Amino acid sequence: MTSCIFARILASSVHLAKKAGQIAREIRLSGDLSIVEKGVQDFQTEADRRAQQLIIGNLNKLHPSLVCIGEEDGLSETVEHADSELDEECLSATYPTVLSSLEENQITCWVDPLDGTKEYTEGGEWIEHVTVLIGLSVAGRAMGGVIHQPFYKYSENKSTTGRTIWGAVGVGTFGLDHDPLQVHLDRLSGKHTPKYTSTRSHSSPIVNELFEALQPCEVVRLGGSGHKVLAVLDGTVDAYVYPSLGLKRWDSCAPEAVITAAGGYFTDITGKNYDYSADDEDRMNWMGCLAGFGDSKTLADKVPQSIVDKVTQVMNTKKEAKK
Ligand code: MG
Ligand code: MG
Repeated sequence: MTSCIFARILASSVHLAKKAGQIAREIRLSGDLSIVEKGVQDFQTEADRRAQQLIIGNLNKLHPSLVCIGEEDGLSETVEHADSELDEECLSATYPTVLSSLEENQITCWVDPLDGTKEYTEGGEWIEHVTVLIGLSVAGRAMGGVIHQPFYKYSENKSTTGRTIWGAVGVGTFGLDHDPLQVHLDRLSGKHTPKYTSTRSHSSPIVNELFEALQPCEVVRLGGSGHKVLAVLDGTVDAYVYPSLGLKRWDSCAPEAVITAAGGYFTDITGKNYDYSADDEDRMNWMGCLAGFGDSKTLADKVPQSIVDKVTQVMNTKKEAKK
Protein backbone atom coordinates (compact mmCIF):
# COMPACT_ATOMS: atom_id res chain seq x y z
CA MET A 1 0.00 0.00 0.00
CA THR A 2 1.33 3.44 -0.90
CA SER A 3 1.09 5.90 1.96
CA CYS A 4 -0.48 9.29 1.40
CA ILE A 5 1.71 12.34 0.84
CA PHE A 6 0.74 13.87 4.21
CA ALA A 7 1.89 10.67 5.98
CA ARG A 8 5.17 10.66 4.04
CA ILE A 9 5.94 14.32 4.87
CA LEU A 10 5.08 13.75 8.53
CA ALA A 11 7.11 10.51 8.64
CA SER A 12 10.09 12.37 7.14
CA SER A 13 9.61 15.16 9.68
CA VAL A 14 9.67 12.71 12.59
CA HIS A 15 12.93 11.22 11.32
CA LEU A 16 14.50 14.64 10.62
CA ALA A 17 13.46 16.06 14.02
CA LYS A 18 15.34 13.20 15.70
CA LYS A 19 18.40 13.86 13.55
CA ALA A 20 18.22 17.58 14.35
CA GLY A 21 18.12 16.63 18.03
CA GLN A 22 21.26 14.56 17.55
CA ILE A 23 23.00 17.61 16.02
CA ALA A 24 21.88 19.72 19.02
CA ARG A 25 23.40 17.17 21.42
CA GLU A 26 26.66 16.93 19.46
CA ILE A 27 27.13 20.71 19.29
CA ARG A 28 26.27 21.11 22.98
CA LEU A 29 28.87 18.46 23.82
CA SER A 30 31.49 20.16 21.62
CA GLY A 31 31.08 23.30 23.76
CA ASP A 32 31.25 25.62 20.72
CA LEU A 33 27.72 26.97 20.30
CA SER A 34 28.69 30.01 18.12
CA ILE A 35 25.95 32.18 19.63
CA VAL A 36 24.49 35.15 17.73
CA GLU A 37 22.16 37.53 19.61
CA LYS A 38 19.23 38.32 17.27
CA GLY A 39 17.37 40.52 19.75
CA VAL A 40 16.57 40.90 23.45
CA GLN A 41 16.61 37.38 24.98
CA ASP A 42 16.61 36.03 21.40
CA PHE A 43 19.54 33.85 20.43
CA GLN A 44 20.70 31.75 17.51
CA THR A 45 23.37 29.07 17.76
CA GLU A 46 25.18 26.76 15.38
CA ALA A 47 22.60 24.11 16.36
CA ASP A 48 19.66 26.31 15.24
CA ARG A 49 21.35 26.91 11.90
CA ARG A 50 22.44 23.33 11.19
CA ALA A 51 19.15 21.81 12.37
CA GLN A 52 17.10 24.10 10.11
CA GLN A 53 19.36 23.42 7.12
CA LEU A 54 18.99 19.69 7.71
CA ILE A 55 15.19 19.79 8.09
CA ILE A 56 14.24 22.24 5.35
CA GLY A 57 17.01 21.15 2.97
CA ASN A 58 15.79 17.57 3.06
CA LEU A 59 12.07 18.37 2.94
CA ASN A 60 12.62 20.71 -0.03
CA LYS A 61 14.58 18.07 -1.89
CA LEU A 62 12.05 15.30 -1.21
CA HIS A 63 8.94 17.47 -1.67
CA PRO A 64 9.63 20.35 -4.09
CA SER A 65 6.06 21.72 -3.93
CA LEU A 66 5.91 21.76 -0.12
CA VAL A 67 6.13 25.29 1.30
CA CYS A 68 8.60 25.30 4.21
CA ILE A 69 8.92 28.26 6.58
CA GLY A 70 11.71 28.22 9.15
CA GLU A 71 12.52 30.53 12.02
CA GLU A 72 16.09 31.30 11.00
CA ASP A 73 16.63 33.74 8.13
CA GLY A 74 19.33 33.80 5.49
CA LEU A 75 20.44 30.17 5.54
CA SER A 76 21.24 28.20 2.43
CA GLU A 77 18.91 25.25 2.66
CA THR A 78 20.10 22.81 0.05
CA VAL A 79 21.38 19.28 0.50
CA GLU A 80 23.33 17.16 -1.98
CA HIS A 81 21.64 13.87 -1.18
CA ALA A 82 18.34 13.97 0.62
CA ASP A 83 17.86 11.80 3.69
CA SER A 84 14.73 9.94 2.66
CA GLU A 85 14.33 7.79 5.77
CA LEU A 86 10.76 7.65 7.07
CA ASP A 87 9.40 6.91 10.52
CA GLU A 88 7.60 3.56 10.21
CA GLU A 89 4.98 4.11 12.92
CA CYS A 90 3.99 7.43 11.41
CA LEU A 91 3.88 6.00 7.91
CA SER A 92 1.70 3.03 8.80
CA ALA A 93 -0.93 4.94 10.82
CA THR A 94 -4.43 5.36 9.37
CA TYR A 95 -5.15 8.86 8.06
CA PRO A 96 -8.63 10.35 7.54
CA THR A 97 -9.64 11.31 3.98
CA VAL A 98 -9.22 15.01 4.75
CA LEU A 99 -5.47 14.33 5.12
CA SER A 100 -4.98 11.34 2.81
CA SER A 101 -6.46 13.16 -0.19
CA LEU A 102 -4.05 16.12 0.01
CA GLU A 103 -1.52 17.10 -2.65
CA GLU A 104 1.98 18.24 -1.68
CA ASN A 105 1.30 21.90 -2.57
CA GLN A 106 -1.67 22.04 -0.17
CA ILE A 107 0.59 21.50 2.86
CA THR A 108 2.72 24.14 4.63
CA CYS A 109 5.56 23.16 6.93
CA TRP A 110 6.53 25.38 9.91
CA VAL A 111 9.96 24.71 11.37
CA ASP A 112 11.44 25.86 14.66
CA PRO A 113 14.78 24.02 14.47
CA LEU A 114 15.43 24.63 18.16
CA ASP A 115 12.74 25.96 20.46
CA GLY A 116 14.18 27.19 23.75
CA THR A 117 17.52 28.38 22.38
CA LYS A 118 18.01 30.55 25.48
CA GLU A 119 17.73 27.39 27.60
CA TYR A 120 20.08 25.60 25.20
CA THR A 121 22.75 28.26 25.75
CA GLU A 122 22.24 28.16 29.53
CA GLY A 123 22.55 24.38 29.84
CA GLY A 124 22.18 22.76 33.26
CA GLU A 125 18.61 21.80 34.17
CA TRP A 126 17.28 24.13 31.43
CA ILE A 127 18.64 21.93 28.66
CA GLU A 128 15.63 19.62 29.06
CA HIS A 129 13.34 22.49 27.96
CA VAL A 130 14.76 22.47 24.42
CA THR A 131 12.67 20.95 21.61
CA VAL A 132 12.72 20.62 17.82
CA LEU A 133 9.35 21.61 16.30
CA ILE A 134 8.00 20.70 12.86
CA GLY A 135 4.34 21.50 12.19
CA LEU A 136 2.21 20.83 9.13
CA SER A 137 -0.72 23.07 8.31
CA VAL A 138 -3.50 22.63 5.78
CA ALA A 139 -5.88 25.43 4.75
CA GLY A 140 -4.54 27.54 7.62
CA ARG A 141 -5.09 24.91 10.34
CA ALA A 142 -2.41 23.04 12.29
CA MET A 143 -3.03 19.39 11.30
CA GLY A 144 0.16 17.47 12.04
CA GLY A 145 3.27 17.96 14.10
CA VAL A 146 6.39 16.63 15.76
CA ILE A 147 7.83 17.70 19.09
CA HIS A 148 11.24 16.14 19.65
CA GLN A 149 12.87 16.69 23.05
CA PRO A 150 16.57 15.89 22.50
CA PHE A 151 17.65 16.19 26.13
CA TYR A 152 14.70 14.38 27.72
CA LYS A 153 15.70 13.25 31.26
CA TYR A 154 19.27 14.37 30.56
CA SER A 155 19.91 14.99 34.28
CA GLU A 156 19.33 11.26 34.93
CA ASN A 157 20.93 9.91 31.78
CA LYS A 158 23.65 11.81 29.93
CA SER A 159 23.46 9.43 26.96
CA THR A 160 19.73 10.04 26.38
CA THR A 161 18.57 10.04 22.77
CA GLY A 162 15.54 12.11 23.74
CA ARG A 163 11.86 11.43 23.09
CA THR A 164 9.65 12.17 20.12
CA ILE A 165 5.96 12.97 20.31
CA TRP A 166 4.05 13.30 17.07
CA GLY A 167 0.42 13.62 16.18
CA ALA A 168 -2.07 14.34 13.44
CA VAL A 169 -5.64 15.52 13.81
CA GLY A 170 -7.98 12.57 13.33
CA VAL A 171 -5.10 10.11 13.75
CA GLY A 172 -4.00 10.58 17.37
CA THR A 173 -0.89 11.45 19.37
CA PHE A 174 2.00 9.01 19.68
CA GLY A 175 5.19 8.74 21.72
CA LEU A 176 3.78 9.26 25.21
CA ASP A 177 3.50 6.41 27.72
CA HIS A 178 0.07 7.61 28.87
CA ASP A 179 -3.17 8.94 27.42
CA PRO A 180 -2.95 12.73 28.01
CA LEU A 181 -6.71 13.20 27.85
CA GLN A 182 -7.27 10.52 30.51
CA VAL A 183 -4.60 12.11 32.74
CA HIS A 184 -6.48 15.42 32.55
CA LEU A 185 -9.84 13.83 33.24
CA ASP A 186 -8.27 12.24 36.33
CA ARG A 187 -6.79 15.59 37.41
CA LEU A 188 -10.14 17.31 37.00
CA SER A 189 -12.03 14.66 38.95
CA GLY A 190 -10.04 15.49 42.10
CA LYS A 191 -10.27 18.87 43.82
CA HIS A 192 -7.10 20.78 43.16
CA THR A 193 -5.71 24.26 42.67
CA PRO A 194 -5.22 24.82 38.92
CA LYS A 195 -1.58 24.73 37.89
CA TYR A 196 -0.53 26.76 34.85
CA THR A 197 2.73 27.03 33.00
CA SER A 198 3.92 30.29 31.48
CA THR A 199 6.97 32.11 30.21
CA ARG A 200 10.17 32.23 32.24
CA SER A 201 12.03 34.77 30.10
CA HIS A 202 9.29 37.06 28.72
CA SER A 203 7.33 37.92 31.85
CA SER A 204 5.67 41.33 32.05
CA PRO A 205 3.12 43.24 34.18
CA ILE A 206 0.32 41.93 31.95
CA VAL A 207 1.37 38.30 32.50
CA ASN A 208 1.38 38.88 36.26
CA GLU A 209 -1.96 40.69 36.10
CA LEU A 210 -3.61 37.70 34.45
CA PHE A 211 -2.32 35.28 37.07
CA GLU A 212 -3.66 37.63 39.77
CA ALA A 213 -7.06 37.43 38.06
CA LEU A 214 -6.89 33.63 37.85
CA GLN A 215 -6.21 33.16 41.59
CA PRO A 216 -6.23 30.71 43.24
CA CYS A 217 -3.69 29.06 40.96
CA GLU A 218 -0.11 27.90 40.89
CA VAL A 219 2.28 29.10 38.16
CA VAL A 220 5.22 27.06 36.89
CA ARG A 221 7.73 28.99 34.76
CA LEU A 222 9.18 26.87 31.97
CA GLY A 223 11.19 27.58 28.83
CA GLY A 224 10.10 26.93 25.24
CA SER A 225 6.58 26.65 23.85
CA GLY A 226 7.16 23.04 22.77
CA HIS A 227 8.25 22.14 26.27
CA LYS A 228 5.32 23.95 27.89
CA VAL A 229 2.86 22.01 25.72
CA LEU A 230 4.71 18.80 26.67
CA ALA A 231 4.11 19.70 30.34
CA VAL A 232 0.37 19.93 29.56
CA LEU A 233 0.48 16.62 27.65
CA ASP A 234 2.37 14.97 30.55
CA GLY A 235 -0.27 16.28 32.96
CA THR A 236 2.26 18.05 35.22
CA VAL A 237 0.23 21.25 34.67
CA ASP A 238 -3.38 21.90 33.66
CA ALA A 239 -2.74 24.48 30.95
CA TYR A 240 -0.28 26.79 29.24
CA VAL A 241 -1.28 30.43 29.66
CA TYR A 242 0.51 33.38 28.04
CA PRO A 243 -1.29 36.70 27.51
CA SER A 244 1.21 38.50 25.33
CA LEU A 245 2.88 38.60 21.91
CA GLY A 246 6.15 36.79 21.39
CA LEU A 247 5.38 33.37 19.98
CA LYS A 248 5.49 33.02 16.22
CA ARG A 249 3.72 30.52 13.99
CA TRP A 250 6.68 28.09 14.00
CA ASP A 251 6.59 28.04 17.83
CA SER A 252 2.96 27.00 17.90
CA CYS A 253 2.09 24.99 14.77
CA ALA A 254 3.56 21.64 15.90
CA PRO A 255 2.44 22.02 19.55
CA GLU A 256 -1.07 23.00 18.42
CA ALA A 257 -1.36 20.02 16.06
CA VAL A 258 -0.05 17.55 18.64
CA ILE A 259 -2.28 18.72 21.51
CA THR A 260 -5.32 18.97 19.21
CA ALA A 261 -4.68 15.42 17.98
CA ALA A 262 -4.65 14.32 21.64
CA GLY A 263 -8.09 15.89 22.26
CA GLY A 264 -6.88 19.22 23.63
CA TYR A 265 -6.76 22.78 22.31
CA PHE A 266 -4.31 25.58 21.53
CA THR A 267 -5.83 29.00 20.91
CA ASP A 268 -5.15 32.68 21.50
CA ILE A 269 -6.39 34.23 24.78
CA THR A 270 -9.84 34.83 23.29
CA GLY A 271 -10.25 31.15 22.31
CA LYS A 272 -9.55 31.69 18.61
CA ASN A 273 -7.22 29.51 16.53
CA TYR A 274 -4.26 31.04 14.73
CA ASP A 275 -4.14 30.98 10.93
CA TYR A 276 -1.18 29.03 9.59
CA SER A 277 -1.54 30.08 5.95
CA ALA A 278 1.85 30.65 4.31
CA ASP A 279 0.74 33.75 2.41
CA ASP A 280 0.17 35.82 5.56
CA GLU A 281 3.53 37.58 5.96
CA ASP A 282 2.81 38.38 9.61
CA ARG A 283 4.13 35.42 11.61
CA MET A 284 3.48 36.87 15.07
CA ASN A 285 0.97 35.28 17.47
CA TRP A 286 -0.15 38.68 18.71
CA MET A 287 -2.86 37.52 21.07
CA GLY A 288 -0.84 35.12 23.26
CA CYS A 289 -1.97 31.58 23.90
CA LEU A 290 -4.00 29.15 25.96
CA ALA A 291 -3.37 25.40 25.63
CA GLY A 292 -5.02 22.64 27.59
CA PHE A 293 -7.74 20.01 27.68
CA GLY A 294 -11.48 20.35 28.12
CA ASP A 295 -13.56 23.19 26.72
CA SER A 296 -11.20 25.93 25.43
CA LYS A 297 -13.90 28.53 26.16
CA THR A 298 -13.83 27.75 29.90
CA LEU A 299 -10.30 29.14 30.27
CA ALA A 300 -10.73 31.89 27.65
CA ASP A 301 -13.80 33.14 29.57
CA LYS A 302 -11.64 33.57 32.69
CA VAL A 303 -9.34 36.05 30.92
CA PRO A 304 -10.64 39.51 31.94
CA GLN A 305 -11.75 41.75 29.06
CA SER A 306 -9.36 44.45 30.37
CA ILE A 307 -6.41 42.13 29.62
CA VAL A 308 -7.73 41.26 26.14
CA ASP A 309 -8.06 45.02 25.50
CA LYS A 310 -4.48 45.72 26.63
CA VAL A 311 -3.02 42.92 24.47
CA THR A 312 -5.08 44.15 21.49
CA GLN A 313 -3.86 47.68 22.05
CA VAL A 314 -0.20 46.57 22.08
CA MET A 315 -0.83 44.67 18.82
CA ASN A 316 -2.46 47.68 17.15
CA THR A 317 0.28 50.07 18.27
CA LYS A 318 3.08 47.77 17.06
CA LYS A 319 1.35 47.06 13.75
CA GLU A 320 0.79 50.79 13.22
CA ALA A 321 4.46 51.54 13.96
CA LYS A 322 5.53 48.96 11.36
CA LYS A 323 3.60 50.64 8.54
MG1 MG B 1 10.82 28.89 19.36
MG1 MG C 1 13.96 28.53 17.67
